[in-house]
Amino acid sequence: MRLTPRSNTLVDVNQRVQTVINPQTKEWDLGLIRHLITDDEALAVQRIRLTPSGDGDRLVWPNTKTGDYTVKSGYHTLHVASCRRRPRNPSSSLSCDKEVWKLVWNLIAPPKIKNFLWRALKNCLATKANLFRRKIGTSPLCPICGDESESIEHMLLLCHWVEPIWFGSHLNLRIDKGTITTFDNWLLSFSFSLNGNSGDRSNIMTSIGYICWFIWKMRCKTAIESHPPSPMVVICESHAALRSYLNAQASKNAIRTPPVPEAHPPQFWSPPENGVVKINVDASWNSEHHMAGIGVVLRNSSGVFIAGLACSADADSSIEAETLAILEGCNFAIQQGHTRVVIESDSKEAISCLNRSIPRGRWQLYPILCSIRNSCSTFWDCNWSWVPRTINLAADHLAKLAMLRMSLSIWVNRPPSSLIGILDKDGLPCPPILSA
Ligand SMILES: [Zn+2]
Repeated sequence: MRLTPRSNTLVDVNQRVQTVINPQTKEWDLGLIRHLITDDEALAVQRIRLTPSGDGDRLVWPNTKTGDYTVKSGYHTLHVASCRRRPRNPSSSLSCDKEVWKLVWNLIAPPKIKNFLWRALKNCLATKANLFRRKIGTSPLCPICGDESESIEHMLLLCHWVEPIWFGSHLNLRIDKGTITTFDNWLLSFSFSLNGNSGDRSNIMTSIGYICWFIWKMRCKTAIESHPPSPMVVICESHAALRSYLNAQASKNAIRTPPVPEAHPPQFWSPPENGVVKINVDASWNSEHHMAGIGVVLRNSSGVFIAGLACSADADSSIEAETLAILEGCNFAIQQGHTRVVIESDSKEAISCLNRSIPRGRWQLYPILCSIRNSCSTFWDCNWSWVPRTINLAADHLAKLAMLRMSLSIWVNRPPSSLIGILDKDGLPCPPILSA
């Protein structure tokens, strides 16, 4: 962020950022420069999180997750900038970057998947928009939502019914709708954003191909048979088809393929071991207001509800919201006097950031991850793990409640009545209810 000193003020060139950080509280203290900056700038500065330990500055390249520069990310940044300069014209992907074709033809996938992606990239699928343009059909509108023209991008990435498919799949992907221009750009940007070895990246891109193919199949079935589309069927069928293809390839080539995540992860919440408290955390994120709703549920080894918390916070992304939820969960458990804990979140990225060395995680999360490590050091015993969303419903419920209430709510020993059904579904005893 570039600050704009007011023209009639003198700026002390020797001042450093540390002069506006309170050395005791490690919080922003803008008193010294308050007269130099606007209210909006002061607000923006105060939103920048600081590490609790006051670590030294770190130079980051903002276009990679870790903040480290790579040639690939440099190329990607240039590519995205050149795409932005082109006029936005979805579904006119006839002149795709040759990198996209390379990506598609190098996929480890059966010809039908590659061929389907080729047709999607060439914009020659029989979507409503394409049929309407060729004067076949009476409307270009999406047969499922009826709200927008059914372009390739709308059908595969933007329509509301595909959102739970991308997020609920093992890729756990939130599609950033605001950044989508064309399908080929999205595919290329996504592949550039992947970390890991080439085998892992290739498997992920193959998963993308399978998911797109099964979305198309379900969309056609829905359009013909006029029944609501099922995101769950697409998730299960695409995953099963991918597993079976990769397994067949592995036995054919007699080489070990990287493991594919289980199609059916555990379906039920499980209590922690004796003497340990399980902290389930979750966050909802509002992209318009950059706000997070955070939910935390504490239960003991008998599965009994000990305490719950719902609060809101500023967050610039869903992953920031999820990571803040872990921090709130830790701090809440500390306040409640617990010393042995296990933390469960349904954010794979947040959990993997904590499992790795913190500087290797997403650089924007660095101060929050440091705060989590700092908080966790006060526990005698602390572990964290990822769980599917389907067994994190209690925390998910309180996160949604937090979004509605926009204020701090704490429940001790007795959960809010609206949570009883979910706790009960987790298959464990509940204390008497108390009206929310
Ligand atoms: Zn639609």
